[in-house]
Amino acid sequence: MFTLDQEHLEIREEARAVAASVAQYAAEADELDVVHRPMAQAVKASGLTRYVIPAAYGGANETLDPLAIAIVREEFAAVSAHLDSLYGMQGVGSYAITVGGSDALRAEWLPKVLSLDAIAAIALTEVEIGSDLRSVSTELREEGDEIVITGEKSFITNAPEAAFFCVLGREGDGYSMAFVPADTPGVTVTSGPDLIAPHIIGGVTFDEVRVPKENRLGETGKAFSLMLQVLAVFRATVAGASLGIGRAALEEALKHTQTREQFGKPLLNLGAVSQKLALSWAELEAARALTYSAAAQAAAAPLAHIAETSMAKVVATETAGRVADRAVQSMGRFGLVRGSDIERHYRNSRPGRIYEGSTEVLLDSLARQLSKRTKAALENGGGIL
Ligand SMILES: Cc1cc2nc3c(=O)[nH]c(=O)nc-3n(C[C@H](O)[C@H](O)[C@H](O)COP(=O)(O)OP(=O)(O)OC[C@H]3O[C@@H](n4cnc5c(N)ncnc54)[C@H](O)[C@@H]3O)c2cc1C
Repeated sequence: MFTLDQEHLEIREEARAVAASVAQYAAEADELDVVHRPMAQAVKASGLTRYVIPAAYGGANETLDPLAIAIVREEFAAVSAHLDSLYGMQGVGSYAITVGGSDALRAEWLPKVLSLDAIAAIALTEVEIGSDLRSVSTELREEGDEIVITGEKSFITNAPEAAFFCVLGREGDGYSMAFVPADTPGVTVTSGPDLIAPHIIGGVTFDEVRVPKENRLGETGKAFSLMLQVLAVFRATVAGASLGIGRAALEEALKHTQTREQFGKPLLNLGAVSQKLALSWAELEAARALTYSAAAQAAAAPLAHIAETSMAKVVATETAGRVADRAVQSMGRFGLVRGSDIERHYRNSRPGRIYEGSTEVLLDSLARQLSKRTKAALENGGGIL
């Protein structure tokens, strides 16, 4: 098993205490498509956003520590998906500024992200384009001292509440990113759709939006790798959140099956039920070991460890789905009651398998890695894995 050091154990305790302090709001917050203010206040007061911002702008570490973020997200998601999203998106939505923004942009905006005075968002997906991001149709072009942006983004977390968008689009033969404050003329935001696991989400239209050239993120025409870097750092943290949801679902099932009796004994003492829950425990522990290890490796060199973080995301999100499903099954009809905690965890376990690289897309790129390694081993000798 991966053993956490003292620093990370303390982060876990801190996050657990914050999550416990807002647990009474979890059901109402997880139904919302706007920010739950008391939860946002609790995240702000906790100071835990120091892990999603670099030290130069008020954060905890010189470069982000994905393990710390994964641990916080695990504790937050175990209580509320809304709490986790509020926290995680401050990092996902601002990391392109951290890595690719000018000093002035960082100095102005990262402290506001840290304090939650600016809600962050990253706009990649379009109505017609999801997994195949190289086909985005949003256009960026430079005109004098400005960048002009035209396009429509869809399914953008935080859109209705965001202070800014880090936008990916085409520029010439390449891909560029720009920082766009939400109140820039030509930006229109819509809310929705309503999801089975409610989320602050919406569409954003950029109609000949003009921002200063200084708002460029990364290099002209070369920002695809910047976007990949965002995903490489935060993929392991999505895995962390999924572990939290899976753990919460398993705990619900354990409490229920320990106290409900059928055939004269607790359900948890019936072989088929206990086997299912024991398997869930084992799978969660395995997924956690992989997640922590991948997150720790990604801290030093995120892009060099994209295979490990992709594996962690696939394994943890798929595990959370299986664990939540088994939990519902073990609770019988009580697992199907709308408004119950288990129903909430079951629904919340679903989206992680789709966003920030779906399971199939990540497996596809892992398969390409396998093929490359096998070819090299056949040509040059040596092992494959
Ligand atoms: C809750 C939520 C929050 C989101 N937040 C954001 C956000 O903040 N910013 C943002 O930009 N986007 C966001 N998204 C969008 C998300 O990134 C996309 O949903 C995701 O990229 C998948 O795209 P898609 O849904 O269009 O599915 P599609 O690309 O249409 O894929 C559909 C299915 O086909 C499979 N598939 C696709 N291509 C391949 C392939 N080559 N090989 C094998 N299988 C394949 C997929 O795995 C999937 O199962 C969010 C989505 C959700 C659900």
